Amino acid sequence: MDLLNTLVDKGLRRESPTREEALAVLATSDDELLDVVAAAGKVRRKWFGRRVKLNYLVNLKSGLCPEDCSYCSQRLGSETGILKYTWLKPEDASRAAAAGVAGGAKRVCLVASGRGPTDRDIDRVSKTIEAIKEQNQEVEVCACLGLLSEGQAERLREAGVYAYSNNLNTSEATYGDITTTHTYADRVDTVRKTQAAGMSACSGLIAGMGESDEDLVDVVLALRELDVDSVPVNFLIPVEGTPLAGEWNLTPQRALRILAMVRFVHPDAEVRLAGGREIHLRALQPLALHLANSIFLGDYLTTEGQEGRKDLEMIADAGFEVEGADTQTLPEHRRERAGCGGGGCAPCDGPQEAASGPQEAMSVPGKPVEARTDLVAVRLRGAGTDLPPNA
Ligand code: SF4
Repeated sequence: MDLLNTLVDKGLRRESPTREEALAVLATSDDELLDVVAAAGKVRRKWFGRRVKLNYLVNLKSGLCPEDCSYCSQRLGSETGILKYTWLKPEDASRAAAAGVAGGAKRVCLVASGRGPTDRDIDRVSKTIEAIKEQNQEVEVCACLGLLSEGQAERLREAGVYAYSNNLNTSEATYGDITTTHTYADRVDTVRKTQAAGMSACSGLIAGMGESDEDLVDVVLALRELDVDSVPVNFLIPVEGTPLAGEWNLTPQRALRILAMVRFVHPDAEVRLAGGREIHLRALQPLALHLANSIFLGDYLTTEGQEGRKDLEMIADAGFEVEGADTQTLPEHRRERAGCGGGGCAPCDGPQEAASGPQEAMSVPGKPVEARTDLVAVRLRGAGTDLPPNA
């Protein structure tokens, strides 16, 4: 296909596809799927080889959020059965982080629900980072605490945060449909504050919320315009008890086309396979490793993920290798701009939240899909509990 040849050539030169070309990737047929994956895989290998970076989430504060993001089980008034707790003590957070590092993660993503941190919260997070680094000096720390006020990005950077994560989630045109308590511009502002403070910017999207192809392409191009270092791609987990509980809009093939489009638009950025990969990609998860160069290990913020051991087996079986702590994630030209190490981090909004019970698939013609309820159970182990985590 001329389209794919063009996009490979552009990706190898770090050039972005046009909006029309990105839309054309999403419009390819299932017959063309393996050609699309193979083409985007060439771009992935050019910049990241066969390495897979592992990231580990620690939910510092769970639930009780005053915001109303419609995909999120931690939202205002949520009645999902998630764990609810306020700030973890530094030693507990450090213990949770150590479990992820022991499982192979080189980055720990510290996440807290809420609109944004207070200055006191920044103090707490700083103490937590100190405790984590005492145990694991080399670990990369990403923070994801919501919208930042003036001066907070600089304080986090000084505390040892390498990356800050705040997702745009969807296009500017549809942002108001998913959240009313803050704006797309608020999130863009936090991404810019992150970069101005010298941290690596991580910002991504959630696919499957009922958006159009144009919305997906627009948010992915907007992230390119912002020149973020890492792009988490979440696939909506339609959480029972949230407004998007009935949205099952993705097939494994569509999820792969979305990932391929993101890779073509962000050839040299860390593309992270994030929440929802298990329930939407299902048996095609290994193919996604040809597109994304980074995944989360173990559980998500409020939901259970695939067992860490199975992730490691999947990576090895697919012919990829876990990226070691001594290897830089990002290509040289990106590392020079940031303060240290590799790139990428967790989505603020979390790889989204868990279903607390059986999900009912919508029976719309042409739409999938059977919910995998076994993989969207609410997380009841790890951080905030006395039970060991899945790492
Ligand atoms: S996504 Fe973040 S800000 Fe929005 S409701 Fe969930 S925790 Fe709150």
